[in-house]
Amino acid sequence: MVLLGPPGAGKGTQAARISDRLAVPAISTGDIFRANVAEQTELGRRAQRYMDAGEYVPDEVTNAMVRDRLGQSDATGGFLLDGYPRTADQVAELDGMLADAGQRLDAVVEITADTDEVVTRLLRRAAEQGRPDDTEVVIRRRLEVYAEQTAPLADLYAERDLLVQVDGIGEVDEVTDRIMTALEPRLG
Ligand code: AMP
Repeated sequence: MVLLGPPGAGKGTQAARISDRLAVPAISTGDIFRANVAEQTELGRRAQRYMDAGEYVPDEVTNAMVRDRLGQSDATGGFLLDGYPRTADQVAELDGMLADAGQRLDAVVEITADTDEVVTRLLRRAAEQGRPDDTEVVIRRRLEVYAEQTAPLADLYAERDLLVQVDGIGEVDEVTDRIMTALEPRLG
């Protein structure tokens, strides 16, 4: 399955919980990029300037990384993607990867939250975790890029009858329960 939602909607937090409950790995492209930046790998060097500016890392870089990750043995029985796909090109690439592996998506969960709420949460996370892309200017840019390039993907998955929308406002446990309840009929 795929988790969609603006920065600050709680995707990472919920991905970890849903991954536990469903016993499938949570694969976060943002986490993989951050680990590569920290280790100063070639991938990290290519990604960092985009991340620092709140822009998307180019599709060819991101797609190759995800293809590699989904090819690892722990992903054969299913996985939860957090933060991928984020562009129409990535959707097409993911379709290709799934077809090659004989897999299909069960659901795309969109966690919704309004802009004021996500900005407040991201500024709080900035104070707590010091993520370099959590400054107010970069947060605004990340939200703009999300609105332009990623929000439209919800319609695309709705047309495929895969979209489940869940209100991301509320206690963490409450949101997890909403997601699990919404997923139940789809996971069989
Ligand atoms: P996240 O932790 O999901 O908010 O991602 C942090 C940053 O990593 C984003 O602002 C992008 O610069 C980059 N990133 C993560 N996932 C993707 C993706 N699917 N496509 C392009 N860039 C990404």
